[in-house]
Amino acid sequence: MSSIRASIKCNCGQRIIARDVMQTGYYLRLFGPSYVYVKYRCSRCRKMGEQFIKQEEWEGGILRDSAEEVPQEEKERFESLGPIDINEVIDFHFALENLSDLKTLEPPHPPSKKVKQRSSSER
Ligand SMILES: [Zn+2]
Repeated sequence: MSSIRASIKCNCGQRIIARDVMQTGYYLRLFGPSYVYVKYRCSRCRKMGEQFIKQEEWEGGILRDSAEEVPQEEKERFESLGPIDINEVIDFHFALENLSDLKTLEPPHPPSKKVKQRSSSER
C-alpha cells in the first residue's frame, strides 16, 4: 500500500527495527514538516543512536517490514491500535494542561526526595 521505502539505519549499516527503539517523540513545527525523534540501540553493534524522521515516513511504517520478526498476535495487536496519530499527541498535551489538581492522580512513588517520611526500603 505504502510506497515509502525509508528506513532507519545504524552507522554500522544494521537496519533499525521496532524492537530496537527505546524512545520516540514528536517534534512539532508550525511551518514545514514535523519530525519524529527516534532513539535506538543497534541490535548488532549495541551502540545507541538517534535520528529524526519525517512524520510522513514514520506513519508510512518505517519500522514495519520487520513483520516476520514480530509474533503474529503482537502484530495484530499493533495493527488494531493503529499508528499514533499526531492528534492524539496534541489531545494528550491539552489533557495535561487541563489537569488542575495533580493530587488526584496519586502517583505510586513519592515524586520528591524531600519527602520527610522515614522509609525502611530506601536504597
Ligand atoms: Zn550498529
